[in-house]
Amino acid sequence: MSLTPRLVRRLSSAGTWIALGILAPVGMLVVSGVMLLDLRQDAWDKAEQTSRNLLQVIERDIARNVELIDLTLQAVQDNLRAPGLEKLDAAMRKLVLFDRAATARDLGVMFVLDENGDVIEDLSASPPRKGNYADRDYFQAHKANRHLGLYVGRPIVSRLTGERMVNFSRRIDKPDGSFGGLVLGSLKLSYFGRLFDQIGLGRDGAINLYLKDGTRITRHPYLEADVGVNIAGSRTFERFAREGTGTFVETSVRDSVKRLYTFTRVGELPLILNVALSVDEVQAGWRAKAAVIGSVVLVLCGLTVGLSLLFGRELRRRSAMQAELARLSETDALTGLANRRRFEDAYGRACADAGRTGRPLSLLVVDADHFKRYNDRYGHAVGDEVLKALARGLATCVHRPSDLVCRVGGEEFVLLLPDTDEAGARRVAGEVHARVRTVAVASVGIGAGAVTVSIGLASGVADAPNLYAQADAALYEAKAGGRNQTRCRVSTGAGSVERQPLRLVGG
Ligand code: GH3
Ligand code: MG
Ligand code: MG
Repeated sequence: MSLTPRLVRRLSSAGTWIALGILAPVGMLVVSGVMLLDLRQDAWDKAEQTSRNLLQVIERDIARNVELIDLTLQAVQDNLRAPGLEKLDAAMRKLVLFDRAATARDLGVMFVLDENGDVIEDLSASPPRKGNYADRDYFQAHKANRHLGLYVGRPIVSRLTGERMVNFSRRIDKPDGSFGGLVLGSLKLSYFGRLFDQIGLGRDGAINLYLKDGTRITRHPYLEADVGVNIAGSRTFERFAREGTGTFVETSVRDSVKRLYTFTRVGELPLILNVALSVDEVQAGWRAKAAVIGSVVLVLCGLTVGLSLLFGRELRRRSAMQAELARLSETDALTGLANRRRFEDAYGRACADAGRTGRPLSLLVVDADHFKRYNDRYGHAVGDEVLKALARGLATCVHRPSDLVCRVGGEEFVLLLPDTDEAGARRVAGEVHARVRTVAVASVGIGAGAVTVSIGLASGVADAPNLYAQADAALYEAKAGGRNQTRCRVSTGAGSVERQPLRLVGG
């Protein structure tokens, strides 16, 4: 079969359209699903990239400022060892000690404390302001450990100014190596506030700065209550401490918001900085797009499925109608038997089969005797009833699926019996006569045995195509012979042989 008719047949099948109607939407769903996942990944990539860039900028700024303070602290450490320093008056001493001191606006205080924690030098006042800081964490830490280097203290409220700040300090050793106090400089938390305020992170975004022990130094957006809180032991902080630098998604212990955390150490300092974006906000843009694309695709899929089902149903209806028309065109309207057209098709095929296989083929041409009289006497409607009764009777005389009973003319029927020899056909003819004897139309007084038929029987193999003419000739003989009987003709290939008539009881 060439490609085009096969394609046309496929396209006109309801199943094809229903399959297409399901496959096409599935395809659409898969493609749009992949697209949406891609968009989602883009949103995440963008959020991660933004967080990393932001983190880098903030981390550099903080590291640089702390480095400036530390350089100053180291300078004071060095200058304290300058010979003759103690002989200078307070103003000169301050000048020598703090000669490289930073005076940025975020610098809080800068003190030198003696081994008892008393202020002995003060960058901002001369004579130094009075105060004792022996109770502070940084003082205790330096006193206990000679090798701390730069120490970052917990965030505190300044006793002098009332401002929130974080202290950076270095130990001062006496010449014998014993604890001689410390030099400290503080950075106001307002510095972080100003640094972070320029950054927009959405409603639930945040920036946090922690000490290595989990103490929060500051947070953006700023809340007094967040400062100094220790979150060591929380899942988020465990990862900050363990991994140093990285990105992960976790639910905040502070407010239970799910966030994308990007975090890093601040230079070499014991500080951990993170930028946290709300997962909901990262995905909000994507969700809106997904909702629009998803609903459009779903509507289109629904339409496609619906239209394909409708189309498939119409195709089914059409082919059912065509099949019904084909059946009707081959059916006799009065009796419901196969009509002449169907008989001719089947007869042609049966002859061809018989010729090919060499199997015998038999035909019975059955004609009602003196049928005209029924019409004349009882009317056409009763004649029809008799024909229908005859048809029902004939239909019960054949038993194989390949046998066919047809009404080929007014009161003329044919029984086509493939793969049946003369003996078999004679048996069927006998059955027909017996069955016809039972036909009766009680309402008008036509009793059993009143209706008779004459049968022309032809059976043959080699020249099967002549069978119909043979059977017709046999029927003519049956009529001439007195009706209500069967005459046989057996085709031998070389010609036909007339056989003994099949006489019937009462015939
Ligand atoms: P014979 O025994 O020689 O066959 O006689 P006959 O009267 O049966 O044969 P004839 O061919 O002379 O007449 C056939 C009649 O069958 C003619 C017609 O009135 C009748 N007939 C044909 N078709 C129908 C039909 O559909 N309905 C009815 N009621 N009668 C029909
Ligand atoms: Mg007749
Ligand atoms: Mg006739």
